[in-house]
Amino acid sequence: MGKNTTTKISLYEIEKNTYLVDTPGFQTMDIYEIETKDLDKYFIEFKNHVEECEFVGCTHIKEENCGIKNAIQNGKIDISRYENYIKIYNDLKDKEEHKW
Ligand SMILES: [Zn+2]
Repeated sequence: MGKNTTTKISLYEIEKNTYLVDTPGFQTMDIYEIETKDLDKYFIEFKNHVEECEFVGCTHIKEENCGIKNAIQNGKIDISRYENYIKIYNDLKDKEEHKW
C-alpha cells in the first residue's frame, strides 16, 4: 500500500522519463510511489482548478465538466503538462492493476 503522503511536492519532467521532484529533501523520487488518485496534487498548476471539477475524485481524463480540461481550453494550463499528467496516470494505473 502506498504511503499517505500529504506533503506538497511537484513533478517536472526534465527529460523523457526523468522527473525532477521539487520538494525539500528529495532530489529524486520513484513516481510509482504515487497513487493515481493523488497524482493531480503533484501538478501545482492543476491545484487551483481541481475544485472546479464537477466530480469529487475526478481523474481529469474521461470526465465531463472537468476544471482541468476547462483550464486547458482557456490556456491556463499548458497542454504539454496535461499530456504529461495523462502519461504518468496511465503508467501508474497500469502498475496498480498489476500490483497484486
Ligand atoms: Zn477534473
